[in-house]
Amino acid sequence: MILSDKVLRVLILGGTTEARRMAAQLAENTTLDLTLSLAGRTREPVAQPVPTRVGGFGGAAGLAAYLSKNRIDLLVDATHPYAAQISMNAVQAAALANVPLLRLERDAWRAVDGDIWHSAATIVQARDLLGDKPRRAFLALGRQELLPFEAAPQHAYVVRSVDPVEPPLDLPRIDYITARGPFNEEDELALLQTHRVDVIVCKNSGGAASYGKIAAARHLRLPVIMVARPLPALQGKTTRVRTVTDAVAHVHQCVSDFRKRGV
Ligand code: NAP
Repeated sequence: MILSDKVLRVLILGGTTEARRMAAQLAENTTLDLTLSLAGRTREPVAQPVPTRVGGFGGAAGLAAYLSKNRIDLLVDATHPYAAQISMNAVQAAALANVPLLRLERDAWRAVDGDIWHSAATIVQARDLLGDKPRRAFLALGRQELLPFEAAPQHAYVVRSVDPVEPPLDLPRIDYITARGPFNEEDELALLQTHRVDVIVCKNSGGAASYGKIAAARHLRLPVIMVARPLPALQGKTTRVRTVTDAVAHVHQCVSDFRKRGV
């Protein structure tokens, strides 16, 4: 039997659709005390289904201190596959605070017949792959990743972001679009054709929400310069899952173990 005042305290590092869906599926479980953490990058983040805190912790040590102070029983890293720093912090903080870590990371997309992908190790390499000849590039990247393109002013760019790019880039030919996903194939086709895009630069985010541009590029036979995912943080004792279903199942298992310990 659970002691009635006992709950399993879970901190979910989020900023992704998966984190939000996971929180929604666990929100009704009264044995859980859930907190979702956001970096605070977007001005008006979408509503979250559980209590939310916003802003950095102050590195791995700060996150470890938060875990200890709030007596967190399970840390979930459901951040974006390219958010390498916070994932590394999560591994270190979990070890420092002796808290188990669950990493939820969606699968990367794989090229299929008709895709024309070029792999780049970094954003700078992706920029260089655009070459010297002027092109019309759609940059489906985060606002913080755009600066290197100022060194390639020969190209025309289309940039899409949730919040406006401020300050604007120092580039002679650039169109800005502010929009929030998901983006379907039909709309992406329209965007690519309207802006006469001839190459896409993007990250291998995986998932359905941003796959529309990949399908649209295949349809139009456009090349895609795909920035590779960062290497996973050294994992220690991390449990790794790839889907929200598996992440929720893992938390349920933790609750069940917790209940047994509470007998
Ligand atoms: P990052 O480079 O790995 O993290 C930079 C710093 O931001 C971290 O050291 C941490 O600050 C803070 N931070 C990041 N995620 C946090 C979270 N969930 N809660 C509290 N603090 C957090 O991350 P990023 O690439 O800037 O991404 C920031 C957020 O946007 C992530 O939550 C991620 O899931 C989301 N996101 C990222 C991408 C992407 O392509 N990178 C795409 C979509 C969504 P302290 O060291 O001070 O704790």
